[in-house]
Amino acid sequence: MRDEHFKVQMFRFVDVLASLHRGGEIVRHLDEYFTDMRNGFAPLVRTGVQAAKIVPWISGQLLRWNVSGMARQFIAGKNPHDVMKTLRKRRAKNIGFTVDLLGEAVVSEREATEYAARCLELLEYLAGETQGWIDQLGKNSELFPVVNLSVKISALYSQMNPADPADATAHLAPKLRPILRRARELGAFVNFDMESYAHKNITLELFKTLFTETEFHDWPHVGIVIQAYLRDAEADLFDLIDWGRARGTRFTVRLVKGAYWDYEKIKSSQNGWNIPVYLQKPESDVNFELLTRILLENEKNVTSAFGSHNVRSIAHAQALADQLGIDRSRFEFQLLYGMAGPIKRALVEMGYRVREYCPVGELLPGMSYLVRRLLENTSNEGFLRAKFSENVSEQQLLRDPRELLNGAAAPSATSVTTGDRQLPDGASVDVPPGDTYENASLVNFVYKENQEQMRAALRQMRTQLGKKYPLVINGEKIWTGKTIASFNPSSPKEIVGHVTEAGIPEAEHALEAARSASKQWSRTTIEERARLLERAAAIMERRRYELSALEVFEVGKPWAEADGDIREAMDFCLFYAQQMRLIGRPRLTQHVPGEESYQHYWPRGVALIVAPWNFPMAILCGMTSAALVTGNTAIIKPAEQAAVIGAMLMEIFAEAGVPPGVLNFLPGKGSIIGAHLVDHKDVNLIAFTGSREVGLRIWESAGQTRPGQLQLKHVVCEMGGKNGVIIDSDADLDEAIVDSIYSAFGYQGQKCSACSRLIVLEENYRRVMQRLLSAAASLRVGNPEEPGMTVGPVIDKTAYDRIQEYIEIGKSEATLAFQRKDVPAEGYFVPPTIFVDVTPEMRIAREEIFGPVLSVIKVRDLDEAIEVANSTDYALTAGFFSRSPGNIERAKAEIVAGNVYINRSCTGAVVGRHPFGGFKMSGGGTKAGGADYLLQFLLPRVVTENITRHGFAPEETPQYREEFLWPPKR
Ligand code: NAD
Repeated sequence: MRDEHFKVQMFRFVDVLASLHRGGEIVRHLDEYFTDMRNGFAPLVRTGVQAAKIVPWISGQLLRWNVSGMARQFIAGKNPHDVMKTLRKRRAKNIGFTVDLLGEAVVSEREATEYAARCLELLEYLAGETQGWIDQLGKNSELFPVVNLSVKISALYSQMNPADPADATAHLAPKLRPILRRARELGAFVNFDMESYAHKNITLELFKTLFTETEFHDWPHVGIVIQAYLRDAEADLFDLIDWGRARGTRFTVRLVKGAYWDYEKIKSSQNGWNIPVYLQKPESDVNFELLTRILLENEKNVTSAFGSHNVRSIAHAQALADQLGIDRSRFEFQLLYGMAGPIKRALVEMGYRVREYCPVGELLPGMSYLVRRLLENTSNEGFLRAKFSENVSEQQLLRDPRELLNGAAAPSATSVTTGDRQLPDGASVDVPPGDTYENASLVNFVYKENQEQMRAALRQMRTQLGKKYPLVINGEKIWTGKTIASFNPSSPKEIVGHVTEAGIPEAEHALEAARSASKQWSRTTIEERARLLERAAAIMERRRYELSALEVFEVGKPWAEADGDIREAMDFCLFYAQQMRLIGRPRLTQHVPGEESYQHYWPRGVALIVAPWNFPMAILCGMTSAALVTGNTAIIKPAEQAAVIGAMLMEIFAEAGVPPGVLNFLPGKGSIIGAHLVDHKDVNLIAFTGSREVGLRIWESAGQTRPGQLQLKHVVCEMGGKNGVIIDSDADLDEAIVDSIYSAFGYQGQKCSACSRLIVLEENYRRVMQRLLSAAASLRVGNPEEPGMTVGPVIDKTAYDRIQEYIEIGKSEATLAFQRKDVPAEGYFVPPTIFVDVTPEMRIAREEIFGPVLSVIKVRDLDEAIEVANSTDYALTAGFFSRSPGNIERAKAEIVAGNVYINRSCTGAVVGRHPFGGFKMSGGGTKAGGADYLLQFLLPRVVTENITRHGFAPEETPQYREEFLWPPKR
């Protein structure tokens, strides 16, 4: 496994194997995964593949059998009965057990309930089978029950959301209590396993809450995990110890290093979060030793279980326990089943307690677990690899991890993104444009402080509801006497604000202001304009909770969605500021003796910004900031439904110092002032995002030149979608279901990128539907003021009625497979709805519904799937779930959409990373948040000078001409 590429392909192949049932399919995958191998393994694999092509059935079976054999090394049994055989053998060797139930990720409450039932069953069975087993050491046995169950908390509640620990506890506690009660009756031990960081705080809280309850407060046979690779681990451990002391009953802490290191690093880097894990392996080792000391020093209250395969960590715990005079029978070492056999034997011989962590479950589906184990075993820094495969010396292995830290670069707690906002001389072509930019971060609702800030912002915002907001023209606040009321869609009686309504006279006034400000603004330096955007982003950062809270009230966004919208708005400001610095300077077009040609850009003039309500801050701000940084002046017309958020954007730019007239805030009716300005001879550029109907009207109207018009109008036009997601027959359903459900129902399906057609291959249709429908039935639907909601209300009565009409159309065209019943009576809540037996020509398969309605289309094969995916008028986003490299390549090449997402949700584009926008009837082919977006707002210009005088010319030609910058330096 030294060859990295081979290793990755091998893991991926093993990962998909469980979902392949036909020999031919297995062979095809094998072929696809290993065709390009150019290393020592390749001939072997090639021969295997060739043989397999001839007799696919036998080879397929053989492979499954082989991999099952491999899995058997790490999985202690297929079922409770099977695992008992293993446990008996281990008992003979004086090794105890803790059992963990393997299984698919839990995506619905039905699956969570099944997991809870399996836990109970397993407990009963183990207790029955181990009657009469006595403690291996015969001392302090009261601390270490024979039966020990490790419970995966995330498998007990499918809707666990880090923002909402109270909800998680409310759902998890009732499922856990019967398990705990029965375990106690049976004299068993229950351990709460720790998974990813997102669930850590909830798991700790849940543990403390449950075991403080009267029924359980005096029960000592409970344990929880502390992961030493986490920077929080020490504080969490102290907190637990304090809690335990107050509780007055012992409990156990299993100390491990942690198994999600890569995942945590990737996830935090993607979201701009502080990385919660130590970045250098020895740091975790050092921390493990520190935590070992804390645990042993608190032996009076806590029983320790050291979960490590590292002999240095083990030896350190042993030495410390000796030093503190703690008997060997009062703590234990826990090691994974199938690994580090010699260490376990040695520990037993030395008289220590050893317990094996034994996963139980079907071998092939247990693959993801296996893959994780394999990664651990072969990771470059892993102890096991060093010890058993590379024969590193004893001295090296036992070295104090502190020594390895000496001289190493100080670990960084922040994102690893390699952004450099101030590139000196423009990005090189080798650097991806997005790499020159570091994204703003999302709020991480894992942290209590962040949850509390959001709650406080919601409370505060409630006191502000109903305020009045003026127009802003030429820097002046204007009240027309007419207002547009904006309502809370969760509670339509509640008015979020009254925004002054502009009419035609105000539109003319705004246009006049924008025209006169244009001269000065277009001559303002790029640097100054870029700084304006950066100041605006900083203000948004300062006010981000307040702005998110406003989005919850005004457009019904769940917390994280609202925060995502504000983050995107900040990103637009920062990214466009940076991009303008890169493209703005006059640049030499070509080196040629005797002549200099420089290309640069001028603004187009006055921009009209017309925005939708669904990303009320991000899209409005994105189009506005692009217009301003490129030197255009702008009139912004927010959507009527989100006008208060529009007023906030105006406030923010005003505070950031936008000069009078450069930005004018003109809320009003789209069909009146929007249409008037679109048609106006003095508007040079229209940046529109919204529906197809309005977009096409604008496109057409802008094509006409009016009397007195001096410039062709340019239109940036982003419209709707009818986005299809294909689930291939070998897709990882754990991911496909969660991501498709989120893509379809997240923010009530009101994203232009939302999945509204799920295209499923018939081979796994039954399984997909079974999981999909129960996942939809488990979604949290309700008022998004509550944290952790996935589905809130749709925007207004008109949308509600239109979506209901589509549901009726769906009922007449197709089969209603699922509709939620329990939606709030107040507010515009449309129940999540799924139709099956949908065919591509039906209206529900062709028209944008813009609500929580999903059409499922069953297809024979991938050819048909791609044909169906491409069969609408739109081409905005698309998704594809597959583990076949060949099919993935095909999908990448053949799916017709502006943004194609493979093996992930089809929503959630990030500025700079996923430039966003579609074509066909989804848009004009522009990419918001992309490196070339600003060019839409600019007119390119080339100036050529003959620099020869009497046959002489300077030899050096600068790449950029600072003095050429327009306006000229004074
Ligand atoms: P909409 O078309 O009804 O309204 C968009 C804006 O256009 C509003 O500000 C509205 O007041 C204005 N408007 C309406 N009539 C006008 C006219 N005659 N002239 C000028 N302006 C007029 O869309 P919406 O309901 O606000 O937003 C939802 C739509 O937007 C969906 O179709 C969605 O797919 C699309 N959308 C697309 C993208 C994208 O990037 N492609 C992003 C978000 C939303």
